[in-house]
Amino acid sequence: MLTKDNQKKANIPSCDRSRYSQEKYKFFLEAPFEISNKCCNVMKKEPAHTYYRKTGRKPILATMASESRLRTQKWLHNGCNGFDLTIPTSTPMSFWTEQDVLWYIKENNLPICSVYGEVVTDYEAMGQCENQMTFSDYGIFGEERPLLKTTGCDRTGCVLCGFGCHLEKESRFLRLKETHPKFHNLLYVLKNNGVTYAEAIDWINEHGNMNIRY
Ligand code: SF4
Repeated sequence: MLTKDNQKKANIPSCDRSRYSQEKYKFFLEAPFEISNKCCNVMKKEPAHTYYRKTGRKPILATMASESRLRTQKWLHNGCNGFDLTIPTSTPMSFWTEQDVLWYIKENNLPICSVYGEVVTDYEAMGQCENQMTFSDYGIFGEERPLLKTTGCDRTGCVLCGFGCHLEKESRFLRLKETHPKFHNLLYVLKNNGVTYAEAIDWINEHGNMNIRY
């Protein structure tokens, strides 16, 4: 286990462990299929870098600090315009929250991809407020605004992305089965080291004591 000051020690209590201590996922080291965190590099970052090298054009990305700890750290370090980065990058939406985005879509009646469904008031969250500053704190888009949600997916990535699927209440794979059955069928076709995606999920459920449904 990794301690908060990055030492490796056995059997330390959870309060002393680094937030990056990943012993819960150690069983993946024995997986009969290959697994890594490199997909974003291959599918998103590298094509963008290649495009930059070919054209000299600098990327403008719609990432937000609220999406992850890493993005928050990067924003605090570089600001919205990272002029000094190896590839200078602008992230003008860094300080927006998800609610800002939903409100902007609703206010301007913008079309969005069908998988998100519609932007509606989140009546279950009525009375709650965001714990982060939003545009409404400055009177932008009106003084008061209810919390909003989408009726379909709230976040999306690659269609068969499995990242975080073990933490979901509603299975993304079962939803895909309903909305896009042909895509869902790829779970039984795509193979890695001879193991289908469906077999890999079964293996994870068995060896990681998880309940990923598909
Ligand atoms: S959306 Fe998922 S599968 Fe796609 S690049 Fe990101 S982490 Fe990888």
